[in-house]
Amino acid sequence: MGRLEGKVAIITGGARGMGASHAEVFVKEGAKVVITDILDGQETAEKLGPNCTFMKHDVTLREDWERVVKETDKLYGPVTVLVNNAGIAKLKPWDQTTDEDYDIHYRINQLGVYLGMQITAPFMIKAGIGSIVNISSIAGMAGGANALPYVATKFAVRGMTKAAAIDWGPMNIRVNSVHPGVIRTPMTMENPDVDKSLVEQMGELSPLKRIADAIEITNLVLYLASDESSFSTGSEFIADGGQIAGF
Ligand code: NDP
Repeated sequence: MGRLEGKVAIITGGARGMGASHAEVFVKEGAKVVITDILDGQETAEKLGPNCTFMKHDVTLREDWERVVKETDKLYGPVTVLVNNAGIAKLKPWDQTTDEDYDIHYRINQLGVYLGMQITAPFMIKAGIGSIVNISSIAGMAGGANALPYVATKFAVRGMTKAAAIDWGPMNIRVNSVHPGVIRTPMTMENPDVDKSLVEQMGELSPLKRIADAIEITNLVLYLASDESSFSTGSEFIADGGQIAGF
């Protein structure tokens, strides 16, 4: 029996990167999975077979969330796992950061997570069980250069995870945050705002002396999505090769 047998999961930003890796493992472990993205994720979903469906979705829009959650309910039953994974990182020096830069980080990385939790919660309450995994970052634990809006929103995700865990714990809904270090995905390797040599250098400076592959975060997300983590809620789970352990 798979570790996610009987679960219905929504994974945002699932067309590529870490979200696609989570979807692949979730399906293998027996979950029914809806991947959502503003990019086209049809191909990613088709590769994973009938237990995976792609839905176009902008996480900043309440009406998109309502549609996705209702359609998921019709297709597979009430959502019992939400992975709030969609996110952006546009790194810029503080004096070149515009209000628009701040606003777009807020809308995708912070408001998107809030809407996802608020709109899925009634379905999880109906199901009598739920696990919400909010993808923050080590930038939600410590500051970083050229990343004011990114850091602000990732700290917000960490904070709202705890508030939600308190509200929904009595309804058997667990809410935890995940804090990856530097991971090899399109966000780090194909992002014009990110210096690739700096990315590798950050890995070399960490205790494990490397950056990681998406699967190393997927394994943690899988644990949190499954009933194996049944007594964990409102907590922070870091997977960063020791990067923020100290110096
Ligand atoms: P990717 O950029 O590879 O994947 C994220 C996906 O989310 C993209 O397909 C992206 O589309 C999509 N997305 C962006 N905006 C929206 C939106 N409004 N609605 C729906 N989907 C959207 O990123 P990663 O896989 O690297 O990152 C996943 C998560 O992990 C993010 O929250 C990120 O902040 C976090 N993280 C990543 C780290 C890393 O080193 N890679 C480290 C720590 C945390 P588009 O390309 O159009 O933006």
